Amino acid sequence: MAKRDFYEVLGVAKTASADEIKKAYRKLAMKHHPDRNPDDKSAEEKFKEANEAYEILSDEDKRAAYDRHGHAGVDPSMGGGGFGGGGAGFSDIFGDVFGDIFGGGGRGGQRSSRGADLRYTLELDLEEAVRGAKVQIRVPTLVACETCDGTGAKKGTSVDTCRTCGGQGQVRVQQGFFSMAQTCPTCRGRGKTIKDPCNSCLGQGRVEKSKTLDVKIPAGVDTGDRIRLTGEGQAGANGAPAGDLYVQVQVRDHKIFERDGADLYCEVPISYADAALGGELEVPTLDGRVKLKIPEGTQTGKPFRLRGKGVSPVRGGGPGDLICRVTVETPVHLSKRQKELLREFQQEMDAEDGKHSPKKSSWFESVINIFGEK
Ligand SMILES: [Zn+2]
Ligand SMILES: [Zn+2]
Repeated sequence: MAKRDFYEVLGVAKTASADEIKKAYRKLAMKHHPDRNPDDKSAEEKFKEANEAYEILSDEDKRAAYDRHGHAGVDPSMGGGGFGGGGAGFSDIFGDVFGDIFGGGGRGGQRSSRGADLRYTLELDLEEAVRGAKVQIRVPTLVACETCDGTGAKKGTSVDTCRTCGGQGQVRVQQGFFSMAQTCPTCRGRGKTIKDPCNSCLGQGRVEKSKTLDVKIPAGVDTGDRIRLTGEGQAGANGAPAGDLYVQVQVRDHKIFERDGADLYCEVPISYADAALGGELEVPTLDGRVKLKIPEGTQTGKPFRLRGKGVSPVRGGGPGDLICRVTVETPVHLSKRQKELLREFQQEMDAEDGKHSPKKSSWFESVINIFGEK
């Protein structure tokens, strides 16, 4: 069977960047991985083909040789240049790709019965997220059984090594050209068998319990940040190490401020008169109120920047700014007298041909330009 063009295999242009090639490969590798497509010969072929294409195109020298001479430039069976097993980039990306899909389990061969990682979503007020906080959380989790010290066997009885897997917890099965590890069916991955199970944990070695943890939240965290508490996840089965607990931060909406990275935004309603005459406003910041001068003739929506009154992000960098956007509020519930005053005021303004309303005048001009005089 003639080999397909490597660029065609990955679905990228000949001019594709290293990054584009990596992305395209990741996508294909995930789609066609044999673990996801058991007993699918064609997926297996495609997976193999993508690996081969990626191995060449991800290596600058091999890619150059391939561009010059085609498959003959890189395929040893065609008598061309070298194509040694597994370029450095290959194992890298492999770790990457499968780390993503299958979690930590498959990595580094330490597939033992390490406890699962847990995630806890922690809601914080904006103030807590900005300043940092100490919080207590209660986490339901599996912890090592105290009765049997996590072995799962009744006190005084023994735990035996599983005969099926020889204590490995896994058996290897051949699937196509892949030899894959599978959890041992006899001991379900524990590597051990228990004749006399512990009554408290029914042989699991772990019991369900909720525990209280003190979590220190560093100042400047934002929604989506994670704090890892090593070893605070689920206990491993039969004395294996515990997983980690990830505390995922979720910042509640604030009544006044909206956060965007290091900057804070807030809306400040001002009266019609203040906007026209200018003056000093009191505006809120996270550290209390400050005075803000606004000039005469301030229009609605105008932003005023208060430097350094934003947030210092948790990953460093100085504090951001607080941006106050003023909105001019239309007065409501007017008395008869107030209405009269306003009408009088309006008449006075109208007499002067729009010079007091810059936006309205230019808006009317556009209307005339488009639709003609009324
Ligand atoms: Zn076994
Ligand atoms: Zn027990």
